[in-house]
Amino acid sequence: MKERIVILGAGESGTGAAILAKAKGFDVFVSDASAIKQKYKDMLDCRGIRWEEGRHTEDEILLAEEVIKSPGIPDSAPIIKKLIQENIPIISEIEFAGRYTDATMICITGSNGKTTTTMLTYHILKEAGLDVGLAGNVGNSLALQVAENPHGCYVIELSSFQLDNMYDFKADIAILLNITPDHLDRYGYEMQNYIDSKFRIIQNQTKEDAFIFWNDDPVIAREITKRRPAATLYPFALNHKEGVKGYVQNEKIVVETNKGIFMMEQDLLALTGTHNLYNSLASGIASRLMDIHDEKIRASLSDFAGVEHRLERVSRIKGVDYVNDSKATNVNSCWYALKSMSTKVVLILGGVDKGNDYSEIEEVVKEKVRALILLGIDNTKLHNFFDGKITFIEDARSMQEAVDKSYNLAQKGDTVLLSPCCASFDLFTSYEDRGNQFKTCVLNL
Ligand code: ADP
Repeated sequence: MKERIVILGAGESGTGAAILAKAKGFDVFVSDASAIKQKYKDMLDCRGIRWEEGRHTEDEILLAEEVIKSPGIPDSAPIIKKLIQENIPIISEIEFAGRYTDATMICITGSNGKTTTTMLTYHILKEAGLDVGLAGNVGNSLALQVAENPHGCYVIELSSFQLDNMYDFKADIAILLNITPDHLDRYGYEMQNYIDSKFRIIQNQTKEDAFIFWNDDPVIAREITKRRPAATLYPFALNHKEGVKGYVQNEKIVVETNKGIFMMEQDLLALTGTHNLYNSLASGIASRLMDIHDEKIRASLSDFAGVEHRLERVSRIKGVDYVNDSKATNVNSCWYALKSMSTKVVLILGGVDKGNDYSEIEEVVKEKVRALILLGIDNTKLHNFFDGKITFIEDARSMQEAVDKSYNLAQKGDTVLLSPCCASFDLFTSYEDRGNQFKTCVLNL
């Protein structure tokens, strides 16, 4: 009898895992408690893979030798509790796919900046002519690529949820951008659990592997002292000091590896803002370690188009810039967005609060913000915090209203910034929907 693999969740990663498992000869069954998108049903059907939707049939699932779980399913889900009780191993799609490839793995995690750094690194390697795949939270799943379109190397964006069910997988190059509180609801409201999850990015690494991280992050610094990673360390920071391998000096970014020193004028970088400087340094180090020539790195760091919904410039209307940072779903990313602004700002924020502490942005809001537009169904927490601190505060219940009010409040030379600090699900279907509505409203002004 063939070994049974059950896949829970038929999204991008689950469908990819099912296809790879089938290709490797397993008896595969896919189960999703919600409706499965037609695209994924078709992909499963045409390969003869059995699936169910709208339920989890225990009799089928508990026959599994191993279960591959979508990162979206929490450990508190009844079916997961049952599997744990029955001692059935649960792994992630990346863990599974990693068993079937010898490709070089560049893995990127952090609370903020993952997608940007992943796309930037991919852009550099791709432009340099490497046989590279993009995987994880962006692009096609790693498993699907390993099954049907394998590459010599992969740039993989890993969320903490993906890292949670990874055990033997190893990153050849691991990047940890920063750690600030996020998703604590999935970690028993224990920050340390979330930190431990992020640090799985370096598990199984040896001296031959590289660990690239932000040197000035207090959480990362503390953990490094405690954990003493086996990998070769490549810390990056704004300023040079002993041991730092990526930094800024005399308005140039500098990357030092055993392959020599790479330098580039800071003002040639395509991405602006301090946070993006960190992302560029991390990508620069990884690219040097991948033996990419200086000229290629320089060209790609300066022509990268950026990623939609991340500090994306939409338009300039009557001397006012409109910037879409809809992906800023936590306070830290909004802080960086405001810090990167050189003008006065009309800030649109609000939505579903994930336990935010607005004191983190209080100072920069007072310094830069001309007016706040609170865009959400329930703005009470924002009012309680900001009322009396900023002169102009207005509520908006739709993007159209928010953009109209910003248009009226902004003065020539200002920036209208959508950087909401919050999830979008009260008024929008996703952060992409929120960002797209913003862009449409702005372009119709
Ligand atoms: P992630 O994939 O980790 O959510 P993104 O690249 O999608 O990260 O960016 C999410 C938000 O965080 C955006 O608002 C972006 O401008 C901001 N951001 C990007 N890089 C960083 C960083 N290194 N530190 C803090 N914020 C960042």
